[in-house]
Amino acid sequence: MSMTSQADYPSVVDHQFINNQWVPSAGTRQLDVMNPYREERIAQVTAGGAQDVEAAVQAAKQAQPAWQVLGGTARAAYLDGFADALEARRDALMTLSATNNGKPLVEAGIDLDDAIACYRYYAGQAKALDTLQGELVSVAMEGVEARIYHDPVGVVGLITPWNFPLVTSAWKLAPALAAGCTVVLKPSEVTPLPEQVLAEIAIEIGLPAGVLNLLNGDGEGIGAPLTNHPGVDKISFTGSNRIGEAVMQAAAARTARVSLELGGKSPILVMEDADPAQAADWVMAGIYFNAGQICSATSRLLVHESVAEALYAALAERMDALTLGDPLAEGTDLGPLTSAKQRDAVQLYLDIAEQEGLTAVRDGKHRTLPSQGYFLAPILYRDVPVESRLWQEEIFGPVLCARSVTSEEEAIRLANDSIYGLAATVISGDPERARRIGRQLKAGSIWYNSEQLVLPETAWGGFKRSGIGRELGPWGLGAYLEVKHVVGPLDS
Ligand code: NAD
Repeated sequence: MSMTSQADYPSVVDHQFINNQWVPSAGTRQLDVMNPYREERIAQVTAGGAQDVEAAVQAAKQAQPAWQVLGGTARAAYLDGFADALEARRDALMTLSATNNGKPLVEAGIDLDDAIACYRYYAGQAKALDTLQGELVSVAMEGVEARIYHDPVGVVGLITPWNFPLVTSAWKLAPALAAGCTVVLKPSEVTPLPEQVLAEIAIEIGLPAGVLNLLNGDGEGIGAPLTNHPGVDKISFTGSNRIGEAVMQAAAARTARVSLELGGKSPILVMEDADPAQAADWVMAGIYFNAGQICSATSRLLVHESVAEALYAALAERMDALTLGDPLAEGTDLGPLTSAKQRDAVQLYLDIAEQEGLTAVRDGKHRTLPSQGYFLAPILYRDVPVESRLWQEEIFGPVLCARSVTSEEEAIRLANDSIYGLAATVISGDPERARRIGRQLKAGSIWYNSEQLVLPETAWGGFKRSGIGRELGPWGLGAYLEVKHVVGPLDS
């Protein structure tokens, strides 16, 4: 299985990557892999089974001690190898990701750069880890020496969704390998094609066998057996709350570690001192990027009443100017949703909006959709009641719900009135005020006067039901480490 040219991708994914070898999948069920723009099947993936999981976990278990002993500096070279190899395939992978996921090519390029930066960052972290090993701790007790070491958690299962191929896997795989863990990675069955390249790269860079195992399949075939496997020391999961909470329950049965990156219903606050035109650009970027299929989508707009009308007008103008179409065509701003299932799930919310009588500034009535593809028009509802399901629930599509507020206090209170707490954006003419408001918001990522900048050196993760733990930064590495202290009498 090899992908080197632009149009090249495996049309049948019926093998698993275990111990640096492609072996036939134990499963027999075939799942369709779609091009959501052409509404065409572009590949089939075999839904693997528990036997695949067993073989992959055993391979990872065998490989782990030597991978740990190798040390952070040697592991860093492999992480740089991943970054270089992805960079060399950047164009081909952009095309593949846009084809399988439906995102515009330019967004697929942003994803590639994000993934590459992540592997490079954790190469640096792996080297730094060596220098942290055995650090002396200053203790009050006399005559005692105390040192801290950071051991890998062991074998980790990594499970990812379909909205950011190569990115969600990079955020897990890079720190896990840096830490000295060995891995069983299960990409989403909806977008399995981009991640296959990781196996190809593992072989190319001579990654020791068993360090990275890649299993193709769905939740039933691979996800659940992996989560339940006693040989897996930790599961790092990105996806829906429903599945994430089931993963946590399964892991609890054997006190396996979990990291969870789940859903969100993030607010964007536009204060009365904001420039509505500038604010509109940031609001647009927060909800219509990736057709709104972003866990951190700022899907609840809280705007001060004094600038609300100007902001709605600026948004309407920008929404009308969006080009919907072929993800591979230059100039496309908004692609289709990634699957018919997701399009239908979002449509259910649009039906509810109709029943609730919500007021649309823009919706499907305002534009003609492309003749093919799982498209939905970009939508903006205003004056959405806080009781509405559209205000409270993650929609995961190009649907922005807005309401006006009369004060900063009201904006903060409503922003925090959610079961989720992944992200938030604050827009104000006074940056200090924006930062101060941001400090009062219960969310893991706060942007002010900005689009959603994602930086590998910082942190990613949610308060409340948006998840447990943090990815990226040193915290992302810590998620794959156990802290060990070694204490005894000072040598005399
Ligand atoms: P999903 O929960 O349906 O699937 C996620 C992954 O879990 C897939 O690989 C799937 O095959 C697997 N899976 C399914 N059943 C399983 C089971 N029983 N045990 C183990 N694994 C199982 O989510 P999705 O539809 O792929 O992704 C959309 C969701 O992901 C949204 O809710 C979104 O908010 C969330 N998300 C969160 C972040 C974040 O960083 N917080 C990032 C991206 C997406």
